[in-house]
Amino acid sequence: MRRGRGGGSTWADEALAGAEPRVVWFEHPDPGPRPALTGRLDADLVVVGAGFSGLWAALMAAEDDPGRRIVVVEADRIAASASGRNGGFVDASLTHGLENGLAHWPDEIDTLVRLGRENLAGFTDALDRHGIDAAFELSGEIDLATEPHHRDWLAEAAAVHRRHGEDVEVLDEAAMRAEVDSPRFLAGLWRRGSVGLVDPVRLARGLADAAERLGVTILEGSPVEAVESDGPHLVVRTAAGRVVAERVVVATNAHRRPWRRARRWVVPVYDYVLATEPLDPAARAAIGWHHRQGLGEVTNQFHYFRLTPDDRILWGGYDAIYPFGGRIDPRLEQAGPTHRRLAHQFFDTFPQLEGVRFTHRWAGPIATTTRFTAAWRTAHRGRLVWVGGYTGLGVGASRFGARVALDLVDGHRTERTELAMVRRPPIPFPPEPLRWVGVQLTRRALQRADRRQGRRGPWLRLLDGAGIGFDS
Ligand SMILES: Cc1cc2nc3c(=O)[nH]c(=O)nc-3n(C[C@H](O)[C@H](O)[C@H](O)COP(=O)(O)OP(=O)(O)OC[C@H]3O[C@@H](n4cnc5c(N)ncnc54)[C@H](O)[C@@H]3O)c2cc1C
Repeated sequence: MRRGRGGGSTWADEALAGAEPRVVWFEHPDPGPRPALTGRLDADLVVVGAGFSGLWAALMAAEDDPGRRIVVVEADRIAASASGRNGGFVDASLTHGLENGLAHWPDEIDTLVRLGRENLAGFTDALDRHGIDAAFELSGEIDLATEPHHRDWLAEAAAVHRRHGEDVEVLDEAAMRAEVDSPRFLAGLWRRGSVGLVDPVRLARGLADAAERLGVTILEGSPVEAVESDGPHLVVRTAAGRVVAERVVVATNAHRRPWRRARRWVVPVYDYVLATEPLDPAARAAIGWHHRQGLGEVTNQFHYFRLTPDDRILWGGYDAIYPFGGRIDPRLEQAGPTHRRLAHQFFDTFPQLEGVRFTHRWAGPIATTTRFTAAWRTAHRGRLVWVGGYTGLGVGASRFGARVALDLVDGHRTERTELAMVRRPPIPFPPEPLRWVGVQLTRRALQRADRRQGRRGPWLRLLDGAGIGFDS
């Protein structure tokens, strides 16, 4: 890292100085809030939470049965939580990557890969059918080698992906740098057809508009306090109103309310992000990136980065912070040292972009499970289904998560509901303070493994043996 003009401040610090504590995706004109829940409503299906899971559930339920009375109740605004704050990588994988799927469900992996491809096809088909302009680009993702030993990992990963019918290309250092130029990049594995990029807020708002056109009612600013049984009905209660419903899908992901038992299976992990100003033609030319792929390193602590539709670089990841007690708190969204570290690492990766400024800095809660994939649980004799826990890969998988939640809440037995991934819950996290201690031990062990050429120490080997882990 080159030093700036004195005072000990670096180019990275200067570049970060003017960044606003805002999410870049929310810069589009705000369509204005929808009404809140007041008084009593009746519905056939209530969806709690208007992130991707909730919005897909509402849209698909309305498509399946146009006469159904469907109400979405959102605590804040549409996509206020993870769905509006993410990198916008849409991966076909339902299992947080092929390798993780193979580790957990070797017997079902072919089905899971096929269902993932069908889900991505259904995703793009829905965008076309409903005229949703989410700035979708099927540009693929490159897994990056930044240490010499990563080259062997990429070669092995390429063989595994090819065995499962994926279109992948291994890029040596010259080929990688011809795609995207950084002195840190030693090789890449370009997964071409299975990953796309979206503008997540345009996606969420498009899904909400499409659902409303099919008759769904969406209410904002209405935190659900409880879902209670009342004879044959469920009552979804907020401070100012209630919806009396037949069935409820709870799609609140990392958030504890209204179904507190979810805390056993998911923990919130804060993930931090920066966005630069739009790159001018000279800066764009200095890095290449003509195919606009999403990029991510293969280390345990990794950055993910991409170009936005207006040619900013979105740069996130690396630190993953678990707050004691699993609290979700807007104050955790601005972490000075973490954003600063991200800024420094950005210029280590792209020194040729010295002088480019960051305009946005934010964070969001990732809901992780011990197996890194979604989980589904039922309550109230199957009339309530909770879904969440996609870890860092929920933009695409949340459509599948919603589809399964609808199958379950409607009592349909399908190929999806028979999957072991759906039937069996992840291993639960222990209660506090063991939970916090376990997460910290695991984070440190992962950092150590990165420093030791990926060699996993006794703690990680123990967790691997038990089939559990921690990731963002
Ligand atoms: C910084 C960051 C980067 C990420 N990058 C990627 C990526 O590039 N690709 C990828 O695939 N995934 C990524 N993810 C993960 C992805 O964003 C999530 O998996 C996905 O958005 C989950 O959607 P969801 O609808 O299940 O949850 P959420 O988006 O969290 O939605 C839950 C909703 O429930 C609402 N809610 C909570 N409590 C209540 C209540 N009591 N009453 C009513 N409503 C309530 C919340 O306000 C929220 O709107 C990232 C996540 C983060 C945080």
